[in-house]
Parts: sequence; C-alpha cells; structure tokens
Amino acid sequence: MSTQPKPEAHAQAQTPAEPSFRQSVDLMFNRAVALMDLPPGLEQKIRVCNATYTVRFGVRLRGKIETFTGYRSVHSEHMEPVKGGIRFADTVNQDEVEALAALMTYKCALVEAPFGGSKGGLCIDPRQYDEHELELITRRFAYELIKRDLINPSQNVPAPDMGTGEREMAWIADQYARMNTTDINSRACVTGKPLNAGGIAGRVEATGRGVQYALREFFRHPEDMAAAGLAGSLDGKRVIVQGLGNVGYHAATFLQNEDGAKIIGIIERDGALYDETGLDVDAVHEWILRHGGVSDYPDARCHEDSAAVMEAECDILIPAALEGVITMQNAPRIQARLIIEAANGPITAGADEILRDRGVVIIPDMYANAGGVTVSYFEWVKNLSHIRFGRMQRRQEEARHQLVVDQLERLSDSLGKTWSLDPQFKDRYLRGADELELVRSGLDDTMRTAYQSMRQVWHGRADVTDLRTAAYLVAIDRVASSYRAKGL
Ligand code: NAD
Repeated sequence: MSTQPKPEAHAQAQTPAEPSFRQSVDLMFNRAVALMDLPPGLEQKIRVCNATYTVRFGVRLRGKIETFTGYRSVHSEHMEPVKGGIRFADTVNQDEVEALAALMTYKCALVEAPFGGSKGGLCIDPRQYDEHELELITRRFAYELIKRDLINPSQNVPAPDMGTGEREMAWIADQYARMNTTDINSRACVTGKPLNAGGIAGRVEATGRGVQYALREFFRHPEDMAAAGLAGSLDGKRVIVQGLGNVGYHAATFLQNEDGAKIIGIIERDGALYDETGLDVDAVHEWILRHGGVSDYPDARCHEDSAAVMEAECDILIPAALEGVITMQNAPRIQARLIIEAANGPITAGADEILRDRGVVIIPDMYANAGGVTVSYFEWVKNLSHIRFGRMQRRQEEARHQLVVDQLERLSDSLGKTWSLDPQFKDRYLRGADELELVRSGLDDTMRTAYQSMRQVWHGRADVTDLRTAAYLVAIDRVASSYRAKGL
C-alpha cells in the first residue's frame, strides 16, 4: 500500500459544492420522494424537523462556572415516544443533531421499532473532564431535558451515541427517578443502561452485532454480492474499519472472531494501523483503552496518513466513527467494493453519487447501524414489563425438551443402544434460551427482515438502483402511512 502523502487527496476542508451532513440527508430524502407519489404537504411534513430545544447551562467546575450548550431535537412524532441517542462531542451543533434526528425517524420505521425520531447532543470534549465532573454535567443536562419532558418513558427516550455509554445512561435514569419518584416506569426513560440499572443483555454490543448480522444477510444473496463484485462468504474478506469505539470495535471483533474476516486496517483519530495479514482487533482495542490511541501500537505499522488507509484496497470498508468522512474529494479513490455505514452519515450526498456511479455498493446507515435502536426497543419493553426476557419460559422450555430427549433415549435402549444422541446436540437442545440469546434472535430477525424489505424495492423497481434509496422508500412509506392513519 502506498502511504505517500497526496496533498490534494487529504485536504480536510470541503469544497463549496460538498453538501453538509444535514443537506446530505435532505438530498437523499429528496432523491427518494421524487420516486414516490406523496402529496407535497405530507412530503414536507415528513421532511422537516418538528422542534429543537437548545439549552445553555452552567456547572461549577474547578472553582469556576463553565457554560455548556446542548440540544434535543424531535424530528417526527408520528409515533411516540420518540427515540434517539445523546452524543457528547465538541463538534455537536444544531444542524448535526437535526440530521441525526431525521435519520432516527427513518431508521425506526425501517426496522419497525415503534418510535418517532429524535436526537440529542452536548457540545463537550468528554476527554477533558474526570468522571465526577462528567457526572455533574450529565445530570445537569438531563435535568434540563427531563423538566421539559424531553426525557420521559412515554415521550422521549434517549440512548448512547458517540462519547456516551452505559455510565451516562445510568446517571440519566437515576436523575429522572429522583425527579419523578412515583413513576413506576421510570427506568424506561432511557436505554443503554448497565444491566444492574435496568439494562438488557447484549445492548452494549448491539450496534456492532447488527452490522455483523447485516453483512451476513448481504452475503446470503449471491445477486447482491455480485453487484459489489464479491463472491463467497465473509470468511477471508479483507476489512478496513474507521473508529474502534463501541460500534467499530464490536463489529470488527465479531467479524474477525466469528466469521473469519481479516481486519487489515484500523483508522483512529491519531493514525491508522495497516497489516495485509490481518490485525488482532482485541489487542488493538486493549491498546487504545490503555494508551488513548493507536500511534505507538507495537505489533503493526502505524501510518500518520489515515486517509491513505481509508483508500487502500479491501473488500469491505466500515466507517464507524463520524459523519462526512467520505466526500466528493476522496470518493473517486476509495477502493472498497462494499461500504457498510456503521456510523451515521459517513458518506456525503455528493460522494454517494460518485460511489454509485463507480458501482460501489453501500449498505446505508439507517439500516446498517439500526441494531442499537432495535435492542433499545427490547430494553424499553423489558423496563415497561418489569421482567427479564425468558424468565417465565426458560425452564418450561427445558422441561419439554427433556421429555423428548428421555423418550429418544428410551427408544435407543429398546433398540439395544444401536444409536445415541450426540452429547453436544443434547446439551444445546436442552438449554432454554436466556435473555442474551433472545435478544440476539430478535436482532437477527429484525436485521434480516429489514434487509429483505429494502432488497425487494432495490431489485423490484427499475428506477431504484441502490440500497439507500430503497431504504428511504420503505421508511418514508411507513411514516406516511402512519400520518395518514392519524388523519393528517
Ligand atoms: P464511540 O465514541 O464509542 O467511538 C467512536 C470512535 O471513533 C472512537 O474510537 C474515536 O476515537 C474514533 N474517532 C473519532 N474521530 C475520529 C476520526 N476523525 N478518525 C478516526 N476515528 C475517529 O462512538 P460510537 O457509539 O461507536 O458511535 C460511532 C458512530 O456510530 C456514530 O456515527 C454514531 O452516531 C453511530 N451509532 C452509534 C450507536 C451506538 O449504539 N453507540 C448506534 C447507532 C449509530
């Protein structure tokens, strides 16, 4: 791989023609609705963001008051509660939050999670604060949102996003419970909580797991693989991942350890690792957790020129960090045949067009990273039903399976033990499903069903040539039906 700097290739500044994240979402929406027969009023109703609340609040830190700016945007309330993560990053702004909220509306519709779309963000670099300071800031932000019902189990339910995780969700849930002491459903006010604070097994890994299930489903369809110039299975496929955070790490480790994919490139903030023979994802992740970056990782060469690794030859590229990383400038040089958008909005609308023209297949964000909101949906249901999934059925299921095994073993005895059950099969068959297995089954089913709904449109309509437009068509149609049913 050539890592010589190519100045024109790595210019970070966008050309004037490069659409912003929000413009990109709008352009992609427009491209899809142009193929639909929606009344213009309804089209506009679905497109616009209903409301965005901006809050500025002060927190006393290190002896002085610091002011923070946060947002909670509600894109569509065709179903309530509305749902969407809370992002902590110093780049957070209103346009970004609104674009992310719109994507949540379409994502929920596509995977049939019964929510409207929302998103939140706090303009902060969380790495600049210690845990106690972050708790003060998160609780204060949550307080501002809770008192306006912008966090509420039946109206607006946040989840983790970039820069937030289980810890922040636990603080938010506790803050809500303190302010709503008689709300029996208070735990359902936020998802992505730790297991001991009302979370669900498998939520932390859910978005990465969903990326894996999405790829597995893609590789079940030879016709789709052929569109990307690929064949065979995930085994041995060369993968480059950008961002080894929650989503990127889980996707990469599952693909490597369970499907035999080879992770040849890992791009992080401070540089990029590249090794044609494959990187050890878990070792790199451990290193990042301990050292804060990849630059001194001892077992692979680190390239300062991350853009070159993004453009290196591979089968599958997984942008899993942030939006707007594949632009009109670098799109012509991207060599991957298949891009799966684990992050939200990593490909601008301009780059999308270039890649489509070049025949690159893109599995779009609203589908690819929907594993998070899918398992969040399961967590919300669990919180409202106040019982762990599988608690009632597991042992009963095991007892029924035991009856079958006993009967088969009696039959074997009566035939002089000429055959017997494979002990491994017996173990697996006798074990009733626990919560994690049920969550994985529900997630797998969701990812397969949603892919098939997109695929039907992709292959079924001559005017639809890509999965993103197909995804928008399915999602917008569902949102429109919901508005029509309400009589709007
Ligand atoms: P995260 O904060 O856990 O991880 C982000 C990773 O990207 C970090 O390792 C960070 O160092 C890296 N990164 C940041 N800037 C980078 C850059 N310029 N170049 C290379 N690497 C960079 O965040 P996450 O939760 O994994 O979210 C990543 C993306 O996935 C976001 O777009 C988010 O909206 C989307 N997403 C997340 C979830 C979820 O459940 N967490 C669900 C759906 C979508």
